Amino acid sequence: MSNILITGVAGFIGNTLAENLLESGHKVTGIDNGYTGRAENIIKLSAYRNFHYIEYDVTDDSVINHPSLQPIKMIYHLASPASPKWYQAAPFETITVNTLGTKYMLELAKINDAKLLYSSTSEIYGNPNQHPQEESYNGNVNTWGPRACYDESKRLGEVYCYLYHSLYNTKVTVARIFNSYSAGLWKKDGRVMSNFVMQALKGEDITVYGDGKQTRTFCYVEDTIAGLKKMMTNEIANGEIFNIGHPQEYTITEVAELVKSLTHSSSTIVYKDLPVDDPQKRCPDITKAKELLGWQPKISLIEGLKRMISEYRNDL
Ligand code: NAD
Ligand code: UDP
Repeated sequence: MSNILITGVAGFIGNTLAENLLESGHKVTGIDNGYTGRAENIIKLSAYRNFHYIEYDVTDDSVINHPSLQPIKMIYHLASPASPKWYQAAPFETITVNTLGTKYMLELAKINDAKLLYSSTSEIYGNPNQHPQEESYNGNVNTWGPRACYDESKRLGEVYCYLYHSLYNTKVTVARIFNSYSAGLWKKDGRVMSNFVMQALKGEDITVYGDGKQTRTFCYVEDTIAGLKKMMTNEIANGEIFNIGHPQEYTITEVAELVKSLTHSSSTIVYKDLPVDDPQKRCPDITKAKELLGWQPKISLIEGLKRMISEYRNDL
């Protein structure tokens, strides 16, 4: 039984990961400040005897000395809004959580000789000139736009990880997560999957931004979490960066059509303005994760969407 800390435990990935680890008998402490996290997610986890929740902000420097956070062996640092809708509504807080918040969590890892997994993102590749994106690609990010608070602060978070690993030998692994989804997404999250499935189930217009030819890949959260856990438990991942995503690429119009057909919805697909700096294409090269970790996603988009639709439908 390990003592595991998860930041962002009331959010989508943190909550799903916490439940998975608690089911396997681990002891989990979770921190969240409630920004995009949900109380119902914490209530669900409170049913587990081995779960301990602390409502706290990881950008508060007192977090390093919080008595309930030590001793700790593993830190999954997942705190940060991830949906453009929410990180753009709190750009300064987003910068702080990914930079100072990451530094404080690294300090906690250093003091405890723990391993930290940092949740970076495919967004660090910006609007990529290399396709698919390998971990060695340095990206093409615009500093002067509404996405920069997220993309650039995630990049700086990686720099903190590099410094703690190279200067202090702190155990660190960096996951560049590509779009993950499941019914665990908050219905008001604002990202494409929760928007499309809710719109289709309610018979509302399905809102495709731009011409819908931009691409993304979609990794069911169960697969995402399996990748993160391998990174945490495999020594080979120490000091390494891994793309964690599904390599099958779809245009956003294809996703809208698939959701409409799987929900048997009468919704109309409508086209709206493309948000500023919305990346035109995005697809991970996962060779490194396959070769070093033996990880690759198992769940297809159709299978994952069927599960998500069925759970969202039950909730309505
Ligand atoms: P989410 O918004 O659902 O959850 C993030 C959680 O962090 C929320 O519960 C929020 O309240 C909490 N939080 C935010 N600021 C905090 C702070 N200062 N102190 C404590 N808690 C704070 O997001 P998610 O989809 O679960 O993403 C989790 C992590 O994975 C994020 O770091 C995100 O950048 C990264 N990521 C996610 C995806 C994805 O597809 N879901 C893709 C790339 C990267
Ligand atoms: N998108 C869309 N309609 C929506 C929400 C998003 O067409 O209702 C598009 C968005 O413009 C982007 C893609 O879907 O091209 C993925 O958007 P999301 O916000 O989920 O993630 P990210 O852009 O961060 O990859």
